[in-house]
Amino acid sequence: AALAASTKATVKDNDRSHVFHSWSAQELIDPLAVAGAEGSYFWDYDGNRFLDFSSALVYTNIGYQHPKVAAAIAEQAGKLCTVAPGFAVDVRSEAARLIAERTPGDLDKIFFTNAGAEAVENAVRMARVHTGRPKVLSAYRSYHGATSTAINLTGDARRFGNDTATAGVVHFWGPFAYRSPFYAATPAEECERALRHLEDTIVFEGPQSIAAIILETVGGAPGVLVHPDGYLAGVRALCDRFGIVFILDEIMVGFGRTGKWFASEHWDVTPDLICFAKGVTSGYIPLGGVAISAAIAETFARRPYPGGLTYSGHVLACAAAVATINVMEEEGIVEQSARTGAELLGPGLAALAERHPSVGEVRGLGTFWALELVRNEETREPLVPYNAAGADNAPMAEFGAALKKAGLWPLLAGNRIHVAPPCNVSAEDVAKGLRIIDEALTVADAHTV
Ligand code: PLP
Repeated sequence: AALAASTKATVKDNDRSHVFHSWSAQELIDPLAVAGAEGSYFWDYDGNRFLDFSSALVYTNIGYQHPKVAAAIAEQAGKLCTVAPGFAVDVRSEAARLIAERTPGDLDKIFFTNAGAEAVENAVRMARVHTGRPKVLSAYRSYHGATSTAINLTGDARRFGNDTATAGVVHFWGPFAYRSPFYAATPAEECERALRHLEDTIVFEGPQSIAAIILETVGGAPGVLVHPDGYLAGVRALCDRFGIVFILDEIMVGFGRTGKWFASEHWDVTPDLICFAKGVTSGYIPLGGVAISAAIAETFARRPYPGGLTYSGHVLACAAAVATINVMEEEGIVEQSARTGAELLGPGLAALAERHPSVGEVRGLGTFWALELVRNEETREPLVPYNAAGADNAPMAEFGAALKKAGLWPLLAGNRIHVAPPCNVSAEDVAKGLRIIDEALTVADAHTV
């Protein structure tokens, strides 16, 4: 215990002195010192164990420390830690094959990146070169990453500090029935009006200037926004009509999160480019990429692709991807994610909504859900205002503290809790997580009016 205490102090001291954290005012944060993790849990140096209902940042789709993936990484490290991206090498070839086998349609070529934002950057570059057009359309509320192009495509408040490079980006409203930007009364009406709005945006921006439309297949950071049936097919049709490249960002939802390998399978829609990252290796080694259609690949068949990365298809990351995909296949983890959603999380969260006045809406699929918390179910006023901080955010902060105290690590965003445990979370841990959320929601209920 004494050793653990001194280790914890050193870890914390060095972190506070030298680590500069993402998205944070550095002096206002107090990062938890994590000592280890396994399966759906991680723990600190004081022996507190947390059931991780955030899957880190929604990427540990097979949980922490899967022995087969850890072993595959160690084996690759013993054999060949690195090799330049220009060579053909076994694990990279195999990772590309396994991914291409799972992508829809003729998206059969894979460009590897280090993570998500770089996948978005490269998809946009491919679309611009392929079409010779400059603009890209993306949705308000979306999140596409934090590099220059990706953060400006992003449609949430994280863009605000980065508004210097918006050239070529145009935002539009996607469908969101619960808070309809179109005053629609039904999902079908929401879908129709959202498509009409997108068509108008295209026409008034000038179709000849638009290279691509990028969409999260299911909105992740925006709050698990599941598009109404027909919307993605409608966007596909608009892209075809106007010669626009359709990019689906599957970075958060690919590799089992929604109960399919790729979320686009739910609606049987094939885009021209798919961006992936996160779940492809369960985050054990960073990896991302773009799956490319035959037509776009053809553009670069006899003309060089004007982009590249030192670590494109890093062999340790590719070994992790091969092992992760094989483990997901062998253990039926994609199917498990679908079942957990349909049989446990969906009904369980709906029951919480019945009992708690602070729950305005439950939505999701697979192991990917959100509860929209409100001050009043009739007015749907969010429990905290958009982009709230400090005292304004107190109700969500109190709710989060209650969850952590009870041993559940939540993913809180705005006025929502996102429920995203590992895709292979056990039924017992789902039940435990639901019990903890049930109890903590009484804290949120106290703020309803
Ligand atoms: N796109 C989506 C939909 C995401 O959820 C994320 C990360 O959360 C990104 C892009 C950016 O990925 P990365 O943080 O790996 O650059």
